[in-house]
Amino acid sequence: MIRKCKYCEEEFDQNIKIKSRGGYANVCIACHDERPDPDENTPTIRGVISGSGKMAAISIVKFQNKSDADDYVRSFNSSSGWGARKTNRCNNIPFEHVGANIGSTNHKGRS
Ligand SMILES: [Zn+2]
Repeated sequence: MIRKCKYCEEEFDQNIKIKSRGGYANVCIACHDERPDPDENTPTIRGVISGSGKMAAISIVKFQNKSDADDYVRSFNSSSGWGARKTNRCNNIPFEHVGANIGSTNHKGRS
């Protein structure tokens, strides 16, 4: 579904935006990224890196809101990776994996 961004007035695909960033359906991905979070309680996507060096993997994780995301990332970063998260707060935070793909080739949501 093509929508017009309320900030830059570029057209973008609403579905792609919601899937990759969450938040409002009337703001394009670029503007969403550039602006301060307009609503703390919209779903938030974070990328976290597990492992190190050659073994590093980027996981993209979706949270119910920004503070959960911040807690998760903080907690995640202080542990040594997925294997060690059992003992920290990561386990208590609801999240869902949405993929492992960083960097968007779809800058304005066009395909
Ligand atoms: Zn925009």
